[in-house]
Amino acid sequence: MSDTPLDRRSVGTLHGVGPQLATKLKKLGLHSVQDLLFHLPLRYIDRTQITPIGGIQPMTEVVIEGEVRASDVVFGRRRSLVCRLQDHSGVVTLRFFHFNRAQQERLKPGARLRCFGEVRRGKSGVELYHPEYQYLDQTNPPQLEDKLTPIYPATEGITQSRIRDLCGQALSLLQNHSIRELLPQGISTDLHQQLAYSLPDALRLLHNPPPGTALNLLAEGEHPAQQRLAAEELIAHNLSLLKLRQKVQQQQAPVLSEDKTAAATFLDKLPFDLTAAQQRVASEISADIGTAIPMLRLVQGDVGSGKTVVAALAAVQAIANGHQVALMAPTEILADQHRINFEQWLRPLGVRLAYLTGKVKGKAREVQLQAIADGAAKMVIGTHALFQETVEFNDLGLSIIDEQHRFGVHQRLALRKKGFSAEGPSLSGPAPHQLIMTATPIPRTLAMSAYADLDCSVIDELPPGRTPVETVVLSNLRRNDVIARVRASCSAGRQAYWVCTLIEESDVLEAQAAEVTAGELQLMLPELSIGLIHGRLKPREKLEIMIAFKAGEIDLLVATTVIEVGVDVPNASLMIIEDSARLGLSQLHQLRGRVGRGSLSSHCVLLYSPPISGNGSARLKIMRETNDGFKIAEKDLELRGPGEVLGTRQTGDMQLHIADLQRDAHMLPQIKNLAQELLLNHPQNVDALISRWLGHSEQYAQA
Ligand code: ADP
Ligand code: MG
Repeated sequence: MSDTPLDRRSVGTLHGVGPQLATKLKKLGLHSVQDLLFHLPLRYIDRTQITPIGGIQPMTEVVIEGEVRASDVVFGRRRSLVCRLQDHSGVVTLRFFHFNRAQQERLKPGARLRCFGEVRRGKSGVELYHPEYQYLDQTNPPQLEDKLTPIYPATEGITQSRIRDLCGQALSLLQNHSIRELLPQGISTDLHQQLAYSLPDALRLLHNPPPGTALNLLAEGEHPAQQRLAAEELIAHNLSLLKLRQKVQQQQAPVLSEDKTAAATFLDKLPFDLTAAQQRVASEISADIGTAIPMLRLVQGDVGSGKTVVAALAAVQAIANGHQVALMAPTEILADQHRINFEQWLRPLGVRLAYLTGKVKGKAREVQLQAIADGAAKMVIGTHALFQETVEFNDLGLSIIDEQHRFGVHQRLALRKKGFSAEGPSLSGPAPHQLIMTATPIPRTLAMSAYADLDCSVIDELPPGRTPVETVVLSNLRRNDVIARVRASCSAGRQAYWVCTLIEESDVLEAQAAEVTAGELQLMLPELSIGLIHGRLKPREKLEIMIAFKAGEIDLLVATTVIEVGVDVPNASLMIIEDSARLGLSQLHQLRGRVGRGSLSSHCVLLYSPPISGNGSARLKIMRETNDGFKIAEKDLELRGPGEVLGTRQTGDMQLHIADLQRDAHMLPQIKNLAQELLLNHPQNVDALISRWLGHSEQYAQA
């Protein structure tokens, strides 16, 4: 028994764990003794020393000793017992809201106490609310704790002392060989500091920090023992994505050789030249798809940097080699816009398009499905309907996902599985090359961890002649001025967007709000043609409105955030966003990206209703200061944290236990190298690492 590795030793073998407790522990995901060891304290309290009363600080937990000097029942909003406790260095107030007569009797002047509690700033200076206390017998004072006290994550039906006891038992079973060290000695890395602790030592310290351990480092997650585990966790995540990549790349992709003639024909018809950045990224893609290893590439570029045409160039190369291309957009509006562009671009090359979204039904759908299946349609454009349905491709060579930020990591993996790639029982089947385009830049550190399975290209240049959008932040009280501005702009022949936002996740309410606003604006601007678009409209209606707006038949388009991504109407040069402080930075940046797409100088008005939160005002300030999507993305990460920025909070993607992408960003480059080295030189540790840290997230481990 004593030799059983701790990951295979059940919690049921510990003292005091009967079937009932074992069931509770299982509910918490604590099955093995090793699981307990990885169940780390959230924080620690220090009962190892007595703090002089004169030196206590609000927001800390302290042990103090002193003599009661006064004790009174105070009648305020709530009745409380208030004692003044004094030592040689100062006085502090102890406040009790619940007390009985016996307590009141004993807590009288002259009593000597030792108290433990959290210091707050109260009515009478610093106070301790409901401290734990004991009477001091001066000749025989009670022992202080000799170590810091760990506080574990709240566990329903299991007390702190029980979980402490169990973790203590687990620690006593922890021998150096009873838990597998998966980061081998001697791997070359710069993470010396992070790897200074062995795994058992790190676990011992974190469950049981000796007195004098830097509590501030522990609280920040910066202690080397925590960093040791965080590094291992990040490596495990990275490995899971690398494994995924490896698995895909073991398949064969069609070789799509460069076709200079086809590319030239396509480029000649474009009304502009590619920017240097577009050319560079296009040739990276061209080289990738020219080999039999499936491409897995992410193209990042700021809003309006011209990603679509780069994707089209890749499509041309695939089609010139006789293969099909699928392009998936996140919304119908965007899919339709791509359809129009690609028809225009590819018609001169004699390419037939198929179009498939949820709105294509009945006979029309069958025709499209048939053309996709028999290979008559080389270019296939649609929404996620492309993946969901029983769409059969004849010979898919390249799949392109546009505006990837709408899809979380999990979804991306699921799409890849469900979708066209021939993953599944046979790994020998052909796999298409994959191109993924983001809508907004992703901070470098996040890209490095969340997209470790992808190569990354960056279009870091905007087409020439764009004037940056000028952004102003205005209170709702200035609404009339803003309306005057819309009038002036539209009567000069330009177009504008008016975006209504609503925090509620309700299509209905949002649509209603947009309708009301459109009505109001029409009353105030009777001379303008005003259109309304929102998520409740039928796809057909939405498209008709977009077509009319594009054709200039609508001057002012009142919209919900349905127009957030991709919509491209270069003549629109004014964007009003209502209640803008509600939106996140990347969403604001996306919306603002709908203007400034032509050579007209463009403006964005961010309206807010006072009062505005500190965070909201910080966001609007950044929007006013910069148009650079990469900078905005970094700020967004700072303000909202990685889960929100990746849009994956709900889906629970990349659930990190100990690591924090932001705090630990500095180690990510080395993590990436280490993961690669492990995969290459220590492949036997890889699956164990993934299952230790990602456990049941099969998507990562097995997708
Ligand atoms: P995004 O990167 O946001 O998807 P788009 O691909 O929609 O951007 O391109 C934005 C606009 O810029 C489109 O109207 C497109 O035709 C135009 N465009 C793209 N590349 C260039 C270029 N090199 N020169 C001028 N205009 C360009
Ligand atoms: Mg786009």
